[in-house]
Amino acid sequence: MAGFSRCSVASTAAKTPTSAAATFSYLIRALSPSFSSSSSTFDPETDLNRGCPGVGKGTYASRLSNLLGVPHIATGDLVRDELASSGPLSSQLKEIVNQGKLVSDEIIIDLLSKRLEKGEAKGESGFILDGFPRTVRQAEILEGVTDIDLVINLKLREEALLAKCLGRRICSECGGNYNVASIDIKAENGSPGMYMAPLPPPPECASKLITRPDDTEEIVKKRLRVYQTMTQPVEDFYRSRGKLVEFDLPGGILESWPKLLRALNLEDHDDKQSAAA
Ligand code: AMP
Repeated sequence: MAGFSRCSVASTAAKTPTSAAATFSYLIRALSPSFSSSSSTFDPETDLNRGCPGVGKGTYASRLSNLLGVPHIATGDLVRDELASSGPLSSQLKEIVNQGKLVSDEIIIDLLSKRLEKGEAKGESGFILDGFPRTVRQAEILEGVTDIDLVINLKLREEALLAKCLGRRICSECGGNYNVASIDIKAENGSPGMYMAPLPPPPECASKLITRPDDTEEIVKKRLRVYQTMTQPVEDFYRSRGKLVEFDLPGGILESWPKLLRALNLEDHDDKQSAAA
């Protein structure tokens, strides 16, 4: 069966200062007038969560962050920074991440809270969250401190997810995310074919590419299973609140990006930004 793996991208617009729950103490303000999706309304001050490994949520989050002028905060990056810091959590995190497991809710919320507090101190208002929440508990805590306006559920076939993870390359200097995989899935048994072109690095990054230690076939398959058990229920959490927008990625970024903007009613935003550039 050519099933789809469902990967959630949650957009939250926090309109009110949070009168804070224990773990979070940050203030998020609306940046600009809201724009609407087909099923909901949300502000460019969005939180966007990366769920399923390999779907490209980081790439879409980063693009939306540039488009909307809000910071992009990936909890996976926070974990990797902590891991590289040789701090007290470092070896514990390394073991968890390299086994494809989730870090505990307490640790991830602590890392995220610190990042949000730093941002708040710098005057950041709003953000795009990437990779959070990944458990219902995390979603409940988030809901306790801010309003989620929209969750985008990015969907991609599992075979493409695996190929994308295995083809992922990161520039060790600038952190840019690229992909060497050329994904060409033939139409079969009523399922349409799909082509995703590689996303090559610019020449200045080409000699500095590294792969993530958790992007091996065995660990990616484990992460997909963890996603199904731990993170898929988060989709239901937002679905039951009427905040979930389903989006089947039709192909690579060039094909998908304009369609995603259309689904979010953000085309005008993109046009204005291109005109201003
Ligand atoms: P990512 O870059 O989003 O794929 O995250 C890399 C790894 O960081 C994951 O496989 C988890 O081990 C950990 N991680 C990132 N975000 C979370 C989260 N919200 N909850 C638990 N673990 C996380």
